[in-house]
Amino acid sequence: MEKNYYVCTGCGMLCDDIEVETEKNIVNKVHTACRVGVAHMKEGRESAIFQVDAKPVDEATAISETAAILKNAKSPLIFGLGTSSNEAQKLAIELAKKTNATIDDPSSFRLGSVVEALLQNRFKTCTLDDVRNKADVNIFWGTNPSDSHPRHLSKHSYFPRGKEKQRGWEEERTAIAIDVRKSHTAKICGNYFFEIPPGGDAEFIDALIAALSGKLPKTSYNFPPKRILELANILKGAKFGVVFVGLGLVYSLENLEPLFRLMDILNEKANFHLIPMVGYSNTRGFNENLFEETGYVNSVKFEDGAAKHGPEYSIVESLKAKTADTALIIGSDPFSSLPRSIAKNLLEIPVISLNPCETLTSRNAKVYINTAISGVESGGTATRMDGVKVDFKPVVETNRLSDEAVLKKIMEAL
Ligand code: SF4
Repeated sequence: MEKNYYVCTGCGMLCDDIEVETEKNIVNKVHTACRVGVAHMKEGRESAIFQVDAKPVDEATAISETAAILKNAKSPLIFGLGTSSNEAQKLAIELAKKTNATIDDPSSFRLGSVVEALLQNRFKTCTLDDVRNKADVNIFWGTNPSDSHPRHLSKHSYFPRGKEKQRGWEEERTAIAIDVRKSHTAKICGNYFFEIPPGGDAEFIDALIAALSGKLPKTSYNFPPKRILELANILKGAKFGVVFVGLGLVYSLENLEPLFRLMDILNEKANFHLIPMVGYSNTRGFNENLFEETGYVNSVKFEDGAAKHGPEYSIVESLKAKTADTALIIGSDPFSSLPRSIAKNLLEIPVISLNPCETLTSRNAKVYINTAISGVESGGTATRMDGVKVDFKPVVETNRLSDEAVLKKIMEAL
């Protein structure tokens, strides 16, 4: 039995200390990973599938059919890529340029705005290693890592001992949750859980800014001012603070202005960083790769090599307005994740689905290729939620092609 260390690509934390025992190309045991990671590392073992119109074909036919569809398209949409390697994402961007396509990923309706602001240096940030080694005050705002990123608290943000945090949790770290419900993370935070009403985040930020400025904090929902003043005092005393921003906060704000103001005042009074709680293993990589190429993190339309950007180029708006005449969906299942009224427009155009799993999208696709699982069956690099680049290698061998290999073949066939 072989024991080796691998990177888990089960979520945006990309834990790099996963011990895996394999035997005859099958994963027998996974140590160190959380329950999500164990299940993820044991996925795989499917054989390659190439289908056109739901009928099995060979690899060459699936690739040439894909190339023909893309050649005929006037306005293709490329979407997904949250679990693809950086190498595959860069190829998809090249492909979008070559075919005058719109390219987007789920960050356009998730945390993309926060990542874009971060890449524009509007927020001070740090790495998860800094969090482990130095952070004394961590705020989980609109996020519940105990369920979404199960090793976040144990590996980085609460329980571990770091270089400058020798005693580990509770005694030296304060964990604060601000959320609309008492999540598992909020329970761990005990008295430092601040329950606010849905949509109440902007007002809570204003009240907290008032408290940080020595004024009386007020909210229309009568949150006890004394508690907000206590919170402000803890934050003012932080030597190395971090705000982990989740979807709950972003969905509640109309724009990021309140968050900019809060981070600014936190950095006048103390030392605060921001990390977006990116869910998929390489959404941050997609955002950074597209940003490097175009200056935008998502919702980009290429035209003769130039990039245009705007909400109209997101998957949601492209499908609503029926501007896409073909869709290449990579590692994503918009048929399941988007509202039916929008996703149904995909039924009117040819869809090419690259996905390790059979999904509603792949079942409705003109061409389906079941690709290898990044990090389990294929290697490459990915970008962790905090922007750190991580190399990963496959755990088991497969005859399935990686996203990168399929995209290379499509480019060659165009
Ligand atoms: Fe994998 Fe995420 Fe769990 Fe780490 S926290 S083991 S990356 S699923």
